[in-house]
Amino acid sequence: QSKKGGRNQLSFFDPSMQQSVIKRATLDAELHRALERQEFRLHYQIQVDAWRQPIGAEALIRWYHPELGTVSPAEFIPLAEETGLILPIGQWVLKTACQQLQAWQDKPHTRNLVLAVNISAKQIRQKNFSTMVLALLEKYQVTPHLLKLEITESVLLDDVEDTIKTMLSLNSIGIRFSMDDFGAGYSSLQYLKRLPLEQLKIDRSFVQDLENNSSDRTIVRTIITMAQSLNIDVIAEGVENEAQRELLQNKGCIHYQGYLFGKPVDIEQFNRFLE
Ligand code: C2E
Ligand code: MG
Ligand code: MG
Ligand code: MG
Repeated sequence: QSKKGGRNQLSFFDPSMQQSVIKRATLDAELHRALERQEFRLHYQIQVDAWRQPIGAEALIRWYHPELGTVSPAEFIPLAEETGLILPIGQWVLKTACQQLQAWQDKPHTRNLVLAVNISAKQIRQKNFSTMVLALLEKYQVTPHLLKLEITESVLLDDVEDTIKTMLSLNSIGIRFSMDDFGAGYSSLQYLKRLPLEQLKIDRSFVQDLENNSSDRTIVRTIITMAQSLNIDVIAEGVENEAQRELLQNKGCIHYQGYLFGKPVDIEQFNRFLE
């Protein structure tokens, strides 16, 4: 008994744990100031078809802090979701994405690019979410079908009916939806058919071992077959080599995103890359 208690106490003073608590508190405080200090940037990662032609891009947020350096979204987005800061941050992302779409619309080689933006469950549950999105499209004169919203299966956990309504209303004016990280989380096929989804994005975890893992190949084939019968497009994320791309193509997935085609880069690099 006492031995057990002792061990628990020891783990309470685990220095790495203490450090992570301090780090979280620091991150949270700094995150509050990051927007006004203009420390966020969007990076863009290309999405291609079977002929390696660009079809669009995904916008991925980057945080450059003067002392902390580059903080990964995998670290600060979950924190921002907990504290609610994801709402103003998400709005900034959408605004910046619309400004970029406006700029692309003026050039012949970029005018058809679809830009995918990651949306947190908390964002889409905001009462005025669709009004806010519509206002941005109007302000920057962006055709709605050039904007794609990436949601994850976590939107299915709460307030599903309201979320479906919001999605239907945005979809009715032409905005597309993609289900990100598909297969990685909680997924109800019952809801899937009720959502106005244009695309399923196969999670990277199924792509990375495709060559060696036969159950991953089966899962991927099953996702593709299901999507095809529901008339939903499929894109694979995290495609890193030609062998993976070929396996995906053989199974009927012809849209890809991953380091094989390009890493996420800033807008100057991205535009240069397209030229
Ligand atoms: P995600 O939406 O699934 O984005 C894909 C992630 O995989 C990105 O990580 C991207 O850099 C990375 N990736 C792309 N291709 C490859 C590849 O071939 N190999 C490997 N190993 N990785 C690849 P990133 O940029 O660190 O973003 C992490 C996550 O943070 C995103 O996952 C998304 O959930 C979230 N996130 C990023 N930007 C935003 C945003 O603006 N809003 C919200 N709500 N979430 C965001
Ligand atoms: Mg995404
Ligand atoms: Mg993803
Ligand atoms: Mg992912």
